Amino acid sequence: MKEPMEIVLATRNPGKVRELRALLAGLPVTLRTAASFEDAPEVIEDAPTLEGNARKKALALHRHTGRPALADDTGLEVTALGGQPGVHSARFAGPDADDAANRAKLLRELSGASDRSARFRTVVAFAEDGAVRFFEGVCPGRILEEARGAGGFGYDALFVPEGETRTFAELSPTEKNAVSHRGRALRELAAYLRARLGEE
Ligand code: IMP
Repeated sequence: MKEPMEIVLATRNPGKVRELRALLAGLPVTLRTAASFEDAPEVIEDAPTLEGNARKKALALHRHTGRPALADDTGLEVTALGGQPGVHSARFAGPDADDAANRAKLLRELSGASDRSARFRTVVAFAEDGAVRFFEGVCPGRILEEARGAGGFGYDALFVPEGETRTFAELSPTEKNAVSHRGRALRELAAYLRARLGEE
């Protein structure tokens, strides 16, 4: 039997690893995290786009390990802010900002705005044989005037996805995955791998 494809994940976030493992269940792949390789490179996310950061992280890991590597980058793109914070979502309120500070800044910047539409966008980069392939997932919705819900992380408590009345922080993880930007991008990747590995 053919060896499973070993894929290295740039993330150290156990939640993301679990989610990916579930999505790729049944495929001949083994997932490893960067942490299981000695001296795995620490990549500085300073590219001007989500694609640039995802590409940089996936390629650095692919080159270091000699194996296919996967990285993702996500941003919240707010219409009234011209697409900001976008690639700067993690550091919106400053270099050491936490989630609560980022949410507070978003509410300040949007105070009085009538257009509260926004979207989350995730870009997944898959590096293999020296080349990078991209998969994208978008989730449109709107920003509330105050936070609601205890689940999730990041901007979840402020974001209501299109077609819903609840925020991401009020949805169960399964409900969120079904419509979220990351869920969509990862399902695109899973479809690619299914076709690619099914052909061999
Ligand atoms: P990362 O690319 O996953 O590291 O995320 C970049 C920024 O977007 C961080 O501030 C995260 O908290 C935020 N973020 C990413 N995904 C989500 C999400 O699904 N819900 C809410 N915030 C998110």
